[in-house]
Amino acid sequence: KTITADEIRETVVKENVQFLRLMFTDINGIIKNVEVPVDQLEKVLANKIMFDGSSIDGFVRIEESDMLLYPDLSTFLVFPWGSEHGKVARLICDIYNPDGTPFPGDPRSNLQRVLETMKAQGFSDFNIGPEPEFFLFKLDDENKPTLDLNDKGGYFDFAPIDLGENTRRDIVLELEKMGFEVEASHHEVAPGQHEIDFKYADALDAADNIQTFKLVVKTIARQHGLHATFMPKPLEGINGSGMHINMSLFKDDKTNAFFDSHSEDQLSETAYHFLAGLLEHARALTAINNPTVNSYKRLVPGFEAPVYVAWSGRNRSPLIRVPQSRGLSTRLEMRSVDPTANPYLAIASVLNAGLDGLAQGKEPVAAVDRNIYRMNEDERKDNKITDLPSTLHNALKSLAKDEVIKGALGPHLYRSFVDSKDLEWSAYRQTVSQWERDQYLELY
Ligand code: ADP
Ligand code: GLU
Ligand code: MG
Ligand code: MG
Repeated sequence: KTITADEIRETVVKENVQFLRLMFTDINGIIKNVEVPVDQLEKVLANKIMFDGSSIDGFVRIEESDMLLYPDLSTFLVFPWGSEHGKVARLICDIYNPDGTPFPGDPRSNLQRVLETMKAQGFSDFNIGPEPEFFLFKLDDENKPTLDLNDKGGYFDFAPIDLGENTRRDIVLELEKMGFEVEASHHEVAPGQHEIDFKYADALDAADNIQTFKLVVKTIARQHGLHATFMPKPLEGINGSGMHINMSLFKDDKTNAFFDSHSEDQLSETAYHFLAGLLEHARALTAINNPTVNSYKRLVPGFEAPVYVAWSGRNRSPLIRVPQSRGLSTRLEMRSVDPTANPYLAIASVLNAGLDGLAQGKEPVAAVDRNIYRMNEDERKDNKITDLPSTLHNALKSLAKDEVIKGALGPHLYRSFVDSKDLEWSAYRQTVSQWERDQYLELY
């Protein structure tokens, strides 16, 4: 959908909007915003709002700090939760250099760059349907998150076990007010864990939606006295939170390039090549899709999260599942991705991986329809199943060797991503955990 500057001018008056939030995303996937009073609207619309890029992680050095915000008008939205001071509206922005060129360290502009290469290959859309999961924790007297879950429910449980239900329902209602088409919302396997799925959209909208989604979930949870977290593995011994990414290439609104009604399993050659590309680049992709130290505590056997590089049409232990739906819903589901991934970087990277598979005409290894967690090493070897990196450090080493995934970021983003993650890893290495003390303090 397109929104014109005049429509924005009208809505701002009609809805009593007092503040404009200009939003963008830093290298670590964190939403940043510059808030301006509504009387700055003309300056906003003229792409003249400046901010100091040197204060944002992964942006620029002090000496080149002035950056411009170019709002994407189609993202204009009035937040439904107003205050007595009037309402707040947001615009998601691209970041430009003062000379009017797109800033190469901006994840959102970069995704648009990668999408252009896809279009040059004859596809119109890269459709993305995310399945974000999150936990709800109680707050303490000082409104700080505790590790107390707010319910004991399980997969698809109903109230009264599922006390998170009211919160989730409110989240869904707010999302719908904001134009989301929520397809499903349910309690997840772990206590206190929830999932809300919204309809797939083209890559850029989908990434914007993921960012907005996290903001809404956190905001509404707070209104219910709860803390929502997208941390991949907040508690050991129970499932973590993933954000499976369903994806498909379309040639136009009505033609899913992954579907072929004439082939035996109704998957096209394009789908197979794309799948092969995802498998080939899986290890490097993990650095982008699972970018925190904690991400790797989720990628362990036994908790419905993938550990091995394999694919299947049926079971849920492999990295990639091909859901049974066909026609317009023909898609690949990548199950490693977690909600700490920067969605702009993650989507650009999986797209480049798939397009590389297509360019090379790669064929995937055979599907694995057995539970991989139960195979031993030899059986995995016979089935050509490799494993995903087990730490952030190993994932970064794979990324450093993968020119296709580095190319999906471009040199500026790659550098700032690696700088940021190297710091994180080296800080983590220096910590000593309670587990280690419990294991070794008395034994040795
Ligand atoms: P699961 O099979 O893992 O339970 P869900 O039904 O919960 O998956 O979620 C499916 C997701 O896939 C939704 O976000 C949906 O919009 C999305 N989806 C459906 N068709 C496509 C498509 N062609 N391309 C990308 N995503 C799609
Ligand atoms: N929570 C699981 C994960 O870590 C996924 C459960 C599911 O299949 O939805 O990915
Ligand atoms: Mg789920
Ligand atoms: Mg899923």
